[in-house]
Amino acid sequence: MRLLLFSLLLTACKDKDGNGNGPDKTGPYTTETTQTVTTANDGTAAVEIAVEDGDAAFLVTGVKSGSGLTAVEFINDPDGETLLHWQDWYYEAESLTYAFFPAGNTTVNWPVRAVDGSLSAGTWSVVLGAYDNNYNYVRDEDIELTVHRKWDPNLSEGTVRVVLVYADGLESESDLTEGVGYALEEWARIWAQIGLTLEYRFAESDLSATLSDPSYGSSQLEEASTYADKDEIVVLIGEQLSGDLWTYGVSGNIPGALSVTENSGVVISWLAAAGANGAFSDGELNIFAETMAHEVGHYMGLFHPVEDGWDYWDALEDTTDCSNGSECYRDLGENLMFPYPVCTGNNCDRQDQLSDDQGGVLNRYTGTL
Ligand SMILES: [Zn+2]
Repeated sequence: MRLLLFSLLLTACKDKDGNGNGPDKTGPYTTETTQTVTTANDGTAAVEIAVEDGDAAFLVTGVKSGSGLTAVEFINDPDGETLLHWQDWYYEAESLTYAFFPAGNTTVNWPVRAVDGSLSAGTWSVVLGAYDNNYNYVRDEDIELTVHRKWDPNLSEGTVRVVLVYADGLESESDLTEGVGYALEEWARIWAQIGLTLEYRFAESDLSATLSDPSYGSSQLEEASTYADKDEIVVLIGEQLSGDLWTYGVSGNIPGALSVTENSGVVISWLAAAGANGAFSDGELNIFAETMAHEVGHYMGLFHPVEDGWDYWDALEDTTDCSNGSECYRDLGENLMFPYPVCTGNNCDRQDQLSDDQGGVLNRYTGTL
């Protein structure tokens, strides 16, 4: 029924000037479909994706119904060639996607990087597994799928739409709302260097301002994600996160879904940035802005260029694989995706740089239009 409605819309739009509600191929848009697959005897199930000419990326989100876990096993192109396989990445020191790691839901975006090539028209296949809590495959398990394809002729620029959801009452904290205003301008400036335009709107909610870490899913983020319109990413702003005042923000997933799940969106603690006094200094405002851009960067597929132990890296060529603290601070300390602020006393370096390859990932995210 969803498909039928969609084609009716498309037909109705054909003789309009392109400003109707349906896709008109004058600008990028996404197409969304949903289906449920059931795992076979080997514990896996395939979703077939009909990629059309001009489709630049797809995003598949699988939600395990009932208990148990799911993850992406591999992706095949229309010729049956496997372009992505969990075994090539699962034990590696480079991270490409969290989609291979079993969880209650999984999201994969393809392609991730420029070197992954472009989509060809035809039937692509994404194979998912269902597992019990000991990671054994389970047959006859349902996985609910949401598939987004984006038609997008230009992967060097795009627009990302964000909804900033204030936790209960925070919309009337003037220190916060002024700080958010500054942060949005700064975030837009950071993104402009890799061709991204930030569009945003605000929403008020009665969600608790005490945020829980959504890495393993949170009902709070699931409720927040219902505030998103089509193709919007949720940024939930609360007072504190993970029970402390030094966790600035957490992304629900890498990459994240464009549909409602308990990992859909990012959470930001404003008091981690502003301090318990709730008053932003200039330096704290920059960290607040960089935190928002950083967490949404994760949500759109970016990993830290290097992890804290200096022995895990992203899968990008132009973010150097440094291997000790001084090297990493020197080469990557100003990168937006560095794992934490680099400060001397209260004086923190700006972390507002993005590499071309990082820009390539952000522009390939299916929600970037
Ligand atoms: Zn991070």
